[in-house]
Amino acid sequence: MRIFKFGGASVKDAEGVKNVANIIRQHTDKPLLVVVSAMGKTTNLLEALLKAHTEESMEKYTVFKQLKQLHYQTAVQLFENEETVHNILDEWFTNLYKLIEEPTVENYDFEYDRMVSFGELISTTIVSHYMQHIGIANQWIDARQMIRTDNTYREAIVDWEKTQRKIKRQLGSHYEKHPTTPILTQGFIGGTTEGLTTTLGREGSDFSAAIFGYSLNAKDVTIWKDVDGLLNADPKQFADTIKLDKIPYGEAIELSYYGASIIHPKTLKPLQNKKIPLKVKSFIVPNAEGSIIGDFAVKQMPPCFICKKNQMLISIMPKDFSFIAEENLSTIFGLFAHFGIKINLMQNSALSFSVCVDEKNNIEDLIEELQTEFYIKYNENMELITIRHYDKKSIDLVLQNRTAVLEQKNRTTVQYVLKKQS
Ligand code: ASP
Ligand code: MG
Repeated sequence: MRIFKFGGASVKDAEGVKNVANIIRQHTDKPLLVVVSAMGKTTNLLEALLKAHTEESMEKYTVFKQLKQLHYQTAVQLFENEETVHNILDEWFTNLYKLIEEPTVENYDFEYDRMVSFGELISTTIVSHYMQHIGIANQWIDARQMIRTDNTYREAIVDWEKTQRKIKRQLGSHYEKHPTTPILTQGFIGGTTEGLTTTLGREGSDFSAAIFGYSLNAKDVTIWKDVDGLLNADPKQFADTIKLDKIPYGEAIELSYYGASIIHPKTLKPLQNKKIPLKVKSFIVPNAEGSIIGDFAVKQMPPCFICKKNQMLISIMPKDFSFIAEENLSTIFGLFAHFGIKINLMQNSALSFSVCVDEKNNIEDLIEELQTEFYIKYNENMELITIRHYDKKSIDLVLQNRTAVLEQKNRTTVQYVLKKQS
């Protein structure tokens, strides 16, 4: 049993869908489950649609048209027959249209999941029909019937027990009867016991693949991406990146903790629990090796760079010039938790406590609240660079012509808060 996950970039147009179908075709000799995301930037467009709908702006019709065009154009190129395209897509778009014609409901997050989930439902419908069309039998499954969650809309919590039971029972019997007919399903979405749609958080399709992999005791899970595998840095930010071949689970979890954005952070833990390897491969060069995250020891990792932009460095000092002590810290942490602001790095000295956080909308409210008890100094537009497995050369590279405003180092990791390079 294997699991494949194809992200939005892999199915962004007709060429992409053809390529994905081709990759799948080469792996249908054994049980396979395929998880697919929404096409290209569809999720962003659906978010825009919801925003326009909520604001009762006529813009919603423009966005709806854009969404429709994008999918119909792709489908026409794939099926070369208008009627087939209408048969496949009309119902989805009629239902989506109904949602924007209804008055807005009060629960924004509920409405979000109901609307944004169309991206995955439509993309998988197109891919499934296309595969059928070129002779690859497959079974389309509604992931909302498989992945049971609570009703924390937009960030739903998976009920592992129920999910595992459903997946095992329903999909297990499919594979017994049709081991070489792959199942095609959606990433990112789930459903509540009442049958309401939920989503697992942005970029959540990796996590969906892990849920299916875990529940079916898969041999491995492969995430197909537009890069060669896991790299030691973001090639958009660093020259001379290298591919990491083998990465222990713990190391990959650390990298994603520090902000490496390649894999959704919730993906790895369930796989690690069952020692299911996670492969990252290129859908552009599908036969290349890629990277593998698994249960192995690696003697020496190369330096890995993670750069977080738009950071704010906040220094907090008691107004009465007392020392920073436990009582202060608990007040401070309480406020960060209250405003839902995650601390990316913290450091304290006798007289001040400094934190580095993402610049978010409500950060001003937090600062205002902190100012009732503390003196606050802050720097905006900073960068937080983390180097795992640093050495002199990697540090020199990061600090070239720059001085760190703050530095934190332990045996494996060094972090710098730097002024944005002009
Ligand atoms: N389509 C969703 C998103 O763009 C989920 C995913 O791609 O993983 O966030
Ligand atoms: Mg995506």
